[in-house]
Amino acid sequence: ESPEGRKMLELRRSLPAYKEKDALLTAISRNQVVIISGETGCGKTTQIPQFILESEIEAVRGAVCSIICTQPRRISAMSVSERVASERGEKLGESVGYKVRLEGMKGRDTRLLFCTTGILLRRLLVDRNLKGVTHVIVDEIHERGMNEDFLLIVLKDLLPRRPELRLILMSATLDSELFSSYFGRAQIIHVPGFTYPVQTHFLEDVLEITGCRLTPYNQIDDYGQEKMWKMSKQAPRKRKSQIASVVEDALKAADFNGPGAILVFMTGWDDINSLKEKLYANPLLGDSSRVLLLACHGSMASSEQRLIFDEPEDGVRKIVLATNIAETSITINDVVFVLDCGKAKETSYDALNNTPCLLPSWISKVSAQQRRGRAGRVQPGECYHLYPRCVYDAFAEYQLPEILRTPLQSLCLQIKSLNLGSISEFLSRALQSPELLAVQNAIEYLKIIGALDENENLTVLGRYLTMLPVEPKLGKMLLVGAIFNCLDPVLTIVCGLSVRDPFLTPFDKKDLAEAAKSQFSRDYSDHLALVRAYEGWKVAERDFAGYDYCWKNFLSAQSMKAIDSLRKEFFSLLRDTDLVDANTTTHNAWSYDEHLIRAVICYGLYPGICSVVHNEKSFLLKTMEDGQVLLYSNSVNAREPKIPYPWLVFNEKIKVNSVFLRDSTAVSDSVLLLFGGSFSKGAIDGQLKMLGGYLEFFMKPAIAE
Ligand code: ADP
Ligand code: MG
Repeated sequence: ESPEGRKMLELRRSLPAYKEKDALLTAISRNQVVIISGETGCGKTTQIPQFILESEIEAVRGAVCSIICTQPRRISAMSVSERVASERGEKLGESVGYKVRLEGMKGRDTRLLFCTTGILLRRLLVDRNLKGVTHVIVDEIHERGMNEDFLLIVLKDLLPRRPELRLILMSATLDSELFSSYFGRAQIIHVPGFTYPVQTHFLEDVLEITGCRLTPYNQIDDYGQEKMWKMSKQAPRKRKSQIASVVEDALKAADFNGPGAILVFMTGWDDINSLKEKLYANPLLGDSSRVLLLACHGSMASSEQRLIFDEPEDGVRKIVLATNIAETSITINDVVFVLDCGKAKETSYDALNNTPCLLPSWISKVSAQQRRGRAGRVQPGECYHLYPRCVYDAFAEYQLPEILRTPLQSLCLQIKSLNLGSISEFLSRALQSPELLAVQNAIEYLKIIGALDENENLTVLGRYLTMLPVEPKLGKMLLVGAIFNCLDPVLTIVCGLSVRDPFLTPFDKKDLAEAAKSQFSRDYSDHLALVRAYEGWKVAERDFAGYDYCWKNFLSAQSMKAIDSLRKEFFSLLRDTDLVDANTTTHNAWSYDEHLIRAVICYGLYPGICSVVHNEKSFLLKTMEDGQVLLYSNSVNAREPKIPYPWLVFNEKIKVNSVFLRDSTAVSDSVLLLFGGSFSKGAIDGQLKMLGGYLEFFMKPAIAE
């Protein structure tokens, strides 16, 4: 045993989870389902899977045990597996491995696998009894992600078929009762946590301490829930920059005594970026010899996310601007100060109008406590909640589970692909069931796009869609893109829509940025503009000028790189489907025919469509469900005085105060008729059946075997 090994062991033994080790293992051996709750940092994620592994090895079952531990996010699966392997003095891929979408490190002797929830769901697709798996650990169930809630229904069904399988659920907070009763009063083990005391300030305290005038959210003048609800209905643009201003003020005003990193909770990429810009412009906070400024959010490349774990040089203050992914799943060890803006970007779903909404909204009490807890990990810390205490008092206790606030199309498709019977019957067995209308909307959508037939059975198209880990509309584009030999640009579009928007619109340079984007547009399409921007970047990147190119054109270099690597991933998945010639290694020569691509976009995005109604000066847009809708100002179509096409197809609409469309492409009547449908239901069905039949004809041989 090396000195480092001994030190690591000591460190592990000092974690609160260690004290519960025997109780945990006994409970796991006696019960099929065990629920473990404990404070963030007490050692659930890194220790408990190891305890199980070690006890299996002791019981001489080391060679036959197979432990799967799911994580809601890629970055946690990767960083946790790395940590656990190093705690064991091993390399990743020995006894500990990980697997995330199209990436992984796993060897023949891997017995403990960290993976995303999505990966386990995909495995269930081909191996519904999880043959050979001895333990499934579902981590972070308190987050109530849709995939996790879904997985729990599937596992609950599986348990009686696999009596020796053990299920361990881990949760950071104290809503364990809910999970326990779901699994027939399963045993709960609580791990008492240890954190250093965290001094807590609310907005009014910060004002007091510093004597300076901190810009409060100006909407906060009445603290009732109703008011907050109203706030969340206001245009996002104003508030976005406002969050950045509030945080900027706080960073200037607060007194950060002593060393330690500052972790700032923001709502998303946009306000992180706008704050970054503000800070770079500040002589003190933007000085890289004093401040190491880093960002952390879900759509960053994992290599880039990992920088947040770096330690800064002496005398340099690390500031991490993060979304709520830093709330529970990642541990940044040197954090002493936390700034909490009080909001998170959250999707909600309006089933009545069948419209998703994406808005920064107030977090729950539990989230605020989690954020605060991040400050007390290495020494006593401080947390600044940048809102008044009375606002905190009005927070909901827990956040609404994702399954109740998201469109359910992808979920319903998954239910079908796993052969789980009637969708609505299956979903009625969830921890909390979505409303019937939301389920019906999703089923209706899947029927319209041709993924389900009249009787809710998967069509051939539907089966192909389940092979691609993207939303059905993007999957459709990939499939016909492959068939019509224009996969190269279509891959760019699909990947561009899967990562965050590569076109940046910095708050104070909005006009310049929007003008830069419209240079890429000749044909009334945000999607084609993206293709051109990416192609230009590729050329620049060959001369190592990718960053310059992005800077000049207000593009995110990160997104461009993310698109680049996703393209390769999706391409290799498509090769597995037989739609792409397995010998094809390059797809660069493929068709860039603009009309063809437009048709493919329409085929994917239908029924996301609105009509263009011209009046004297400009035009109005209308959809059937919403009436008039608006374009986000960074859409190339928003800058056009006229659109010489009768329709726009769009990939996303979001209700804020009005309904806004994101990324649209203009299409003609004939394209819509052939690749979408018209507003008359009968015609839609007819067209889609025809197209579906066409696809079915193409795809049949593959399915037969
Ligand atoms: P939990 O899952 O209960 O929130 P973890 O198992 O993630 O807790 O972490 C337990 C402890 O292990 C943390 O408090 C931290 O001190 C340490 N730790 C976790 N990850 C790392 C890491 N990547 N580097 C150093 N220490 C870590
Ligand atoms: Mg954890």
